[in-house]
Amino acid sequence: MLDTLQDVLPEQDIAQDMRVPVVLIRGDGIGPEVADATCRVLEEVHKGFDWLEAEAGAAVMEKGIKSGLPPETLDKIDKVGLVLKGPLATPIGHGGKSSNVTLRKLYELYGNVRPIQPLPGLAGPFADRDINFTVIRENVEDLYAGVEHMQTPDVAQCLKLITRKGSEKIGRLAFALAEAEHRSSVHVVTKANIMKLTEGLFKSSVEDVARDHLNIDLDHMLVDNCAQQMVLRPEQFEVIVTTNMNGDILSDLGAGLIGGLGLAPSANFGDNVAMFEAVHGSAPDIAGRDLANPTALIRSGIMLLRHIGQTGAAARLSDALMQVYREGTHLTPDVARAGTGVSTMAFCDAVLAALTDIPERPVPAGTPLSLKRPHTARRNPLSTTRNFDGADVFVEWQGDAPKLALALETVLAGTGFDLTMISNRGTMVWPQAQGRPDTVNHWRCRLMAKAGSGADEADLPDLLQKLSQAVRWMHVEKLETVNGAPGYSLAQGQS
Ligand code: NAP
Repeated sequence: MLDTLQDVLPEQDIAQDMRVPVVLIRGDGIGPEVADATCRVLEEVHKGFDWLEAEAGAAVMEKGIKSGLPPETLDKIDKVGLVLKGPLATPIGHGGKSSNVTLRKLYELYGNVRPIQPLPGLAGPFADRDINFTVIRENVEDLYAGVEHMQTPDVAQCLKLITRKGSEKIGRLAFALAEAEHRSSVHVVTKANIMKLTEGLFKSSVEDVARDHLNIDLDHMLVDNCAQQMVLRPEQFEVIVTTNMNGDILSDLGAGLIGGLGLAPSANFGDNVAMFEAVHGSAPDIAGRDLANPTALIRSGIMLLRHIGQTGAAARLSDALMQVYREGTHLTPDVARAGTGVSTMAFCDAVLAALTDIPERPVPAGTPLSLKRPHTARRNPLSTTRNFDGADVFVEWQGDAPKLALALETVLAGTGFDLTMISNRGTMVWPQAQGRPDTVNHWRCRLMAKAGSGADEADLPDLLQKLSQAVRWMHVEKLETVNGAPGYSLAQGQS
């Protein structure tokens, strides 16, 4: 099942008896239970692990370290570069940022590889389907950059950051993996019909990368369609490369196809650090009850073994896992037939027992292929022309659009700028409003430089000062035409 990844991921080739230091973060909720089970089976197939325990997550946040990541943990990761991690809980709607996302960003773990491959013997609507694809999720950009601001006391904003550099890096990883796995197609999945600049840049960057891999078909699919296609015809997918948020959701959907989050592994790759973790979170509802399924983290451990070149040990553990699932008598409650579920540790014992039937095998000769460093191959093309067009000024205003326009036009008289459009939540409300859009107290006011006025960006501070006399502005976006195309979106209803 996961064997194909051996061709892609190894960057180190370590002799079977060599000590391998791995930073072990047990994590929150069910983390310690699934981590213990995983370490037990990994130690059985490879004797050389040195687990360097490190703290992270909720308990650390409670001690007052907002990131959930103490300096000692970061030091260990810096030194060792290899991490096995249980899930880390993140408070919802308040408190510190996600320690998971912070870890991925601190070490530029840009490539999140999530194989979706079923295990034998499981019942379910997709049990007889030929599902075998990998979601490659860009892991550090998009909304997960977590750049958020309250625009008014009632309006919150999150910046969706997509870069050509980040998109090319993940595109290269996707094609490298597709080639190493002898796949024939890659789907780039976006919402570029709606977010033409951000998701559009991701799409065009991956398409640029595809020109260097003409042996592999690249298809584009919109993310909403992809979600239903994954349910209706999952067999069509081999490799899906997508933005952070899309990838987060699609890979959980993929986990659902193969029997649930308890089964789905993942690896996070950067230039210097590789971190292996389950797709699932801390599942607080079943934490501490010896009920959690450790399969996802064990499969992540199998990916780790391949990463360090222990392909024989990886294949052995994978075979043992298959055997336990094929027999179906020692499965945790999430995947067991009703009334037959066993505890986390009993499942782990069953895997260990299965291993006794599977002989040790040497690292297969001739493997692994090495993954060409995908991030260094291409230089970003530089923009050739940029022209200043004006600015979108976002203001807080309690009245209606015509009154706001009047107030702004009064201030703008005598400046080099014209008010050309006001939108509210993205929909044009002035000079014309179509339909019946509801409004909030946060308005985008598009101020364009008057033709022939000579107004340019140097005039913006003065302009803002004048605007402050009439309105409370919150932020400003410069408007530029880049290489002949507007580098900003139209409002809905604007033509
Ligand atoms: P979750 O922890 O993944 O759990 C969702 C549900 O999936 C659980 O309630 C449980 O369902 C089932 N499940 C997940 N893992 C399982 C396993 N190993 N064995 C059996 N069942 C399993 O998602 P969540 O409840 O949305 O998130 C909880 C916390 O985890 C949040 O703080 C979130 O931020 C964090 N999180 C962390 C990571 C990470 O560390 N990479 C990833 C995702 C979420 P049943 O109700 O059927 O028991």
